[in-house]
Amino acid sequence: MRAARLHRHGDALRIETVPTPMPLPGQVLVRVLACGICHTDVHVCRGDWRARAPLPLVPGHEIVGDVVAIGAGVADEMIGTRVGIFWLNETCGTCEYCRDGWESLCPRQINTGFGAAGGFAEYVTVSAAFAIPVPRELEPEIVAPLMCAGVSAFKAIRETELRAGDSLGIVGCGGVGHLAVAYAKAAGLHVIAFDRSDTALSLARALGADQTMQTTDADAVRTIKKTGGLHGVLVTAAHLDAIRFGIDLLRRKGTAVILGLPPGDATFPVFDVVVKRLTIRGSIGGTRADVVAALAIAGHAGIRSRVTLRGLDDVNAVLADVHEGRVLGRVVLKFE
Ligand SMILES: [Zn+2]
Ligand SMILES: [Zn+2]
Repeated sequence: MRAARLHRHGDALRIETVPTPMPLPGQVLVRVLACGICHTDVHVCRGDWRARAPLPLVPGHEIVGDVVAIGAGVADEMIGTRVGIFWLNETCGTCEYCRDGWESLCPRQINTGFGAAGGFAEYVTVSAAFAIPVPRELEPEIVAPLMCAGVSAFKAIRETELRAGDSLGIVGCGGVGHLAVAYAKAAGLHVIAFDRSDTALSLARALGADQTMQTTDADAVRTIKKTGGLHGVLVTAAHLDAIRFGIDLLRRKGTAVILGLPPGDATFPVFDVVVKRLTIRGSIGGTRADVVAALAIAGHAGIRSRVTLRGLDDVNAVLADVHEGRVLGRVVLKFE
C-alpha cells in the first residue's frame, strides 16, 4: 500500500510503498476513503510534546473507510461495514477511567496515528470495538473531520456545562473552531467567534455565529467585559496568548475549556480565578459514546464540515499550511 511515513521528527513525511498491515486478533483492516489533517498531526510530526511517537509512523486520526478484512474473533458481519476511526485506536477496558465512562483518559490507550499507524495510508488497522459505524449516505470526506475536530468540539462544549441561551466565546475558528460554532448553535448557545483572520470569521458567521471579533482588536476584551463577560469560552487556538485572552473574556463563575496544545506553559490570573470563581478545564478528544453522539447531532442539525480535498502526495504541503494557520476549515486527504 502507499503510505506517508515519518522517519525523523521535524522531517517531511516520505510517501512510500509498504506492506499492507494484517489485522491482529480483535482488529479489523480498513480501506481508507478519507482522512482529515489535524493540528495534532503537525505536533506529532514536529515532535512538539514531551511524549513522542515511536518511528517510523503513519500519522492521521480522522478516518472514514470500509472494513475489508477481520482478525480472529471478529464477527463476519463487520466485513463491508463503513466505519470511522478516531484518536482512540484501543484502550485497556479495565482501568478506573475505562470503567467509569472516561476511556479517553485511559493511561494505557493506544492512539491512531501516534502509537498505532494512522490514516495517511491506503489501509489501516483498528480494534473492532473502536471502529465506529458511519452512515453510507454521508460523504466520507464530510464525516472524516467529525472524528477528531467534530467530537473534540462537541465534547468541549459539554465540558463548559453551559445551558441554552448562555454565551460562548470560541477563540480560534480553524478546524475545531468552525465545527464548535456549528455544534454550539445546535445547542442553543449565543456564540461569539474570535480569530485573527477575516476569512475564518466569515466562515464562523456562515455557520451561525451571532457575533465575530478579531483577536487583534485591542478593544475586544473591553467590549465583551462591558456586557458582563461570557459564560464560557473554548480556546481552540494553539497559542499561549489565546489562553489568557479567553480567560479574560469570562464573567463571574465562567468556565474556560482549553483544547489547543501549544508547546510550553501558560500562566493564569490567580486573583481573577479565585475572586470570580472561574473554572479552567482541559478537554481532550472524546469517548466512543461522544463520537456516536457527535455524529448523530451532526446528522440531525445538518452540521457539515467545511473541507478542501487533497491527495496523499500533497500531505507535506498541507501540514505546512496547517502549521502556518493558512487552512480554512479542514483539509481532507481523499483516496481513490
Ligand atoms: Zn485531531
Ligand atoms: Zn483503561
